[in-house]
Amino acid sequence: MRVLITGAAGFLGSHLCDRFLAEGHQVVGMDNLLTGTTDNIAHLAGRDDFKFVKYDVTNYLYLEGPLDAILHFASPASPIDYLTYPIQTLKVGALGTHNTLGLAKEKNARFLLASTSEIYGDPLVHPQTEDYAGNVDTIGPRGVYDEAKRYAEAITMAYHRTHDIDTRIVRIFNTYGPRMRLDDGRVVPNFIGQALRDEPLTVYGDGSQTRSFCYCSDLIEGIYRLLMSDFNDPVNIGNPSEMSILEFAQLVNMLTDNPGGIVYKQDLRIKGDPQTRQPNIERARNLLSWEPTVDLTTGLHRTIQYFKDRV
Ligand code: UDP
Repeated sequence: MRVLITGAAGFLGSHLCDRFLAEGHQVVGMDNLLTGTTDNIAHLAGRDDFKFVKYDVTNYLYLEGPLDAILHFASPASPIDYLTYPIQTLKVGALGTHNTLGLAKEKNARFLLASTSEIYGDPLVHPQTEDYAGNVDTIGPRGVYDEAKRYAEAITMAYHRTHDIDTRIVRIFNTYGPRMRLDDGRVVPNFIGQALRDEPLTVYGDGSQTRSFCYCSDLIEGIYRLLMSDFNDPVNIGNPSEMSILEFAQLVNMLTDNPGGIVYKQDLRIKGDPQTRQPNIERARNLLSWEPTVDLTTGLHRTIQYFKDRV
């Protein structure tokens, strides 16, 4: 296959490039480098099965040659990033998804949208099943990301139903691993960065809010299987093992022998911060025979190792 991956210089986009290349496919990676970095794909430079195009997919998009699949992963994805770039976030979810779907139609390519657990907002159903419609505050701080992704899902299904495009939607839950940006503001790089500097970990609010962390290689496996399946409705991919942010902080401190402890901090993002989050992955289990295999301690060890060289 020849595949286009948007957001190729980002955390997940770059891992996807690696995976498709390892399977013997040709990859065109596209990124405008707003929040991604070519460091993540530097190891692919010079390969004749990989091509990088610096481009902003919110503009009219065309690519020479055949395409078998498009994976649309371009978007600021951490709360700090989408608060810094609210309009770009809305544009890449709306215009960027429209343009990449248009290209999929032109090329008769399969299309996979990177959606998110954020479409469930601050969920009133727990764990979240794919048929839960969500509880999103349109004008809250997270609204720019949540609504962009909700629109992206809607237009993806519209292209599927109207133009018969072969589409997939993956709803990604909190994922972590090497190539996250140390300063992206998310809890994993924040805590590991602080721990490696012997600083206290900044727990926002009282730390009782929960998340369920999935290691990146598990997520990439789920996405690959989803693309190869024939299922058009959204599929949750994430690790259901849920914990409070306070427990997560204690685990990071233990794994790093951090003498710094914990401080509680009020943060702008507490407004609208989902109180619970856990994927129901029955659909992925049944359809894709997929489930996560990397436990949190193993995944964190690898991630800590990666950040050690960067702190
Ligand atoms: N969080 C925290 N301290 C930090 C960064 C984040 O307590 O330094 C909390 C944040 O309030 C949220 C959770 O960790 O409840 C996960 O935040 P993240 O930004 O990683 O992603 P989210 O799941 O909220 O999109």
